[in-house]
Amino acid sequence: MPIDEFRAKARAWLEANAKPYDEADEYHFSLEESKRFQKALWDAGLAGITWPKEYGGQGLGAAEQVAFNQEAADFALPTGPFVIGLGMPAPTIMELGTEEMKKRHLPKMVSGEEIWCQLFSEPSGGSDVASLRTTAKRTENGWVINGQKVWTTGAQFSDFGAIIARTDPEAPKHQGITMFVVDMHHPGVTVRPLKVATGDSPFNEVFFDDVEVPADAVIGEVNRGWQASVIMLRNERVTIGASGRSRASVLSFETLADLAGERGLTEDPSVRRTLAELYAKENSTRAFGRLLHERATSGIPIGAAGSAAKLAGAELHLWTAEAVQEVFGPLYASGDPELVGVVKGALGAPGNATAGGTNEIQRNIIAERVLGLPKDPGVDRNLPFNQIRFGN
Ligand SMILES: Cc1cc2nc3c(=O)[nH]c(=O)nc-3n(C[C@H](O)[C@H](O)[C@H](O)COP(=O)(O)OP(=O)(O)OC[C@H]3O[C@@H](n4cnc5c(N)ncnc54)[C@H](O)[C@@H]3O)c2cc1C
Repeated sequence: MPIDEFRAKARAWLEANAKPYDEADEYHFSLEESKRFQKALWDAGLAGITWPKEYGGQGLGAAEQVAFNQEAADFALPTGPFVIGLGMPAPTIMELGTEEMKKRHLPKMVSGEEIWCQLFSEPSGGSDVASLRTTAKRTENGWVINGQKVWTTGAQFSDFGAIIARTDPEAPKHQGITMFVVDMHHPGVTVRPLKVATGDSPFNEVFFDDVEVPADAVIGEVNRGWQASVIMLRNERVTIGASGRSRASVLSFETLADLAGERGLTEDPSVRRTLAELYAKENSTRAFGRLLHERATSGIPIGAAGSAAKLAGAELHLWTAEAVQEVFGPLYASGDPELVGVVKGALGAPGNATAGGTNEIQRNIIAERVLGLPKDPGVDRNLPFNQIRFGN
């Protein structure tokens, strides 16, 4: 199909099936609505655009993906529950999974039938994810997993997870890890919600008690889970950082300028200056994000630029949260219902600067991989994991 025809088809479908962006709040869609939407998107030939047909994709090229992204930017797509699965485990399985694994999982992910989560962070640390203590021990038929994960987004409604566990405690910490597909409905998996400052529970702690996984659940190779994790983390930064739109859309210039104008606040020159600064920062960050998003979804590797985009988006969110406090803070006690969303958006800023690798970690990546500065010393890098001292 010629590209203009594909673009017109995508536009027409979106106009008929999705809400224009300004009129909807992404976070208010139900899980069932999201699943129905993803399935309809896929049925219409608009999900998994560049994926191979044998794995549930449309087998189309980068030009179609870019056309779809450009049209979709005007709509609020209720695809939130699929962002992790399609953005992180899916490309990792595409790169490292066996043929059987790809055929079993990828079509159900892209058609909205199964939701996935990413089980990396543990109480022992998220930045230093290789210090993980969850274990996977060999059994006759596969492996048995024991341990705890934390901050697992969407675990409460996930069908599967990509988990990393320690399979060789005698090897240095990066070398004794394996990545597995784990069934989140296994009776040994317990998911407990964690409540954040906004009152929502977007993530969870997840406990694994004697959770069996078959031998063919390994993603990539046994004891090479670190390499698999690096692939997944790289995809995570692309997904978060290069999403092409500020994640803090409730804090966008348009919304805040309208709210301030309606309340007579824009008479104040310092408010106007803050809004003008937001306009400039937001547009430059969005332009960078959109450029990377188009490249990434077209299959062009963006490397450490994903970290730069993730960092820029998180810094913008933090800055905007402060600006919002300055502009609307005096009105918070008024009970104005329209300010509730703004306050929630501002409260999410520190979490955004932590999820997917903190701002400090992104700076380390940019320093090492872009600027060529020396690596972090990593004093325990070569010690066998079971000889590393934890705690006191
Ligand atoms: C909204 C949200 C969603 C999340 N979703 C998921 C998920 O779905 N799956 C998942 O596995 N995890 C998830 N996480 C966890 C996230 O990946 C971790 O919180 C993050 O990697 C930081 O780890 P930590 O919280 O253990 O902090 P720590 O690693 O303990 O870091 C504490 C502080 O030390 C700093 N620091 C640590 N190491 C260095 C260093 N080498 N140089 C400089 N500073 C350093 C950090 O920047 C931070 O300020 C999510 C987190 C949030 C906030």
